[in-house]
Amino acid sequence: ETAPAFLSVWDMHSYYGESYIVQGVSFNVHEGEIVALLGRNGAGKTTTLRSIARLDSPQVQRGEIWLDHKPLHRMASHEAATAGLGLVPEDRRIIPGLTVEENLQLAQIAPPVGWSIERLYELFPRLGERRRQEGVTLSGGEQQMLAIARALARDIKLLLLDEPYEGLAPVIVDEIEKTLRHIKEQGMTTILVEQNAVRALQLADRAIILDTGSIVFDGTAAEVLENESLRAEYLAI
Ligand code: ATP
Repeated sequence: ETAPAFLSVWDMHSYYGESYIVQGVSFNVHEGEIVALLGRNGAGKTTTLRSIARLDSPQVQRGEIWLDHKPLHRMASHEAATAGLGLVPEDRRIIPGLTVEENLQLAQIAPPVGWSIERLYELFPRLGERRRQEGVTLSGGEQQMLAIARALARDIKLLLLDEPYEGLAPVIVDEIEKTLRHIKEQGMTTILVEQNAVRALQLADRAIILDTGSIVFDGTAAEVLENESLRAEYLAI
């Protein structure tokens, strides 16, 4: 008998109202892994992340989601919010009117607290330099760093990133990639949704490819890179 995976998603089906989006998805993520969730526009990647995070919408109507032995599928969204997941949404949601530091402090208002603010500034020196600047006036790359830092400021075990590279210059993507490697070295487990499949595969240990709400591939990043027809059909690379 093998030990259960750190994150285990089993036969998950999710809906936005009547729209059937995630159509029976099953996969495992091991502790400390970075998994890239890839696929065409509208394949259901964001919906899969939001389902795992147990947001109010979409509705997960069937299936099981286990994180570190905890049954997320049995929890209401407010309970799941404290079960150790940190979702960094595509639009980053920096709070207007608050400085960088206040955005981080707000994340630590309720225990359990994760990384200290000092440790986060060591990870993202640019945020430390700009701690008194209003968060929404940061550059796109700096806002992405703040959104990731804010997730780590809470006590999380699983980081869910929705298109962290979107709209960022290649040098900034390099910087964020380096930071995500560092976060992995500290033991974090990460699921990364990305349109930029080339860059995501460079970072990820494993890739899962979705198409119309179903998994069409689950394997190593190297296997994706070697499989020309898979890349052409689902990733356009
Ligand atoms: P993208 O890269 O374009 O964000 P994705 O793979 O993340 O694509 P999703 O955002 O999960 O795809 O969307 C999957 C499907 O769900 C799409 O057909 C989309 O129109 C639909 N959808 C997404 N959000 C909602 C919503 N709030 N209400 C209804 N349908 C939605």
